[in-house]
Amino acid sequence: MSISYPIGESGQFLILEQNVLDHFIKWRQSEPKMPEAGGQLFGAVEGQCIKVELATGPRRSDRRGRFFFIADRLAERREIGKLHKSGLHYFGDWHTHPQSIPTPSGTDISSMADMFARSKQDLTAFLMVIVGTAEFPEGLHVSIHEANAWSALNVEREA
Ligand SMILES: [Zn+2]
Repeated sequence: MSISYPIGESGQFLILEQNVLDHFIKWRQSEPKMPEAGGQLFGAVEGQCIKVELATGPRRSDRRGRFFFIADRLAERREIGKLHKSGLHYFGDWHTHPQSIPTPSGTDISSMADMFARSKQDLTAFLMVIVGTAEFPEGLHVSIHEANAWSALNVEREA
């Protein structure tokens, strides 16, 4: 199983593959004491499909609490370089929230805009996934971020 999100009117789709969803399920804060987790998202573009094929993290050097997650950015940059050599492109970040249906915090939005602005990759936008505790897709927040704008993606509903 995978989950697919149409990207605006572009005709493109963002696809979260099964092993990525499994990784999110493993780390979601379903128990009251579980700290936030997070990491990076990698994949490939095939035609109109932006496929997220790998979610990494969390790692031992990240700082994690019930309501915060601070990634080891140096290790993350090394990871981007290493995975790029094996054909996996960096698309953005994911992290968990102790909420059933997750909503981005002000800090989440501003840090994505900041990362986009400072990014040296030629990404057209940054992807952010927030993992809540509800079943998917309701328990997932998926959005794309540019320097001054962002939009949430929604799964296609059958008419
Ligand atoms: Zn957050």
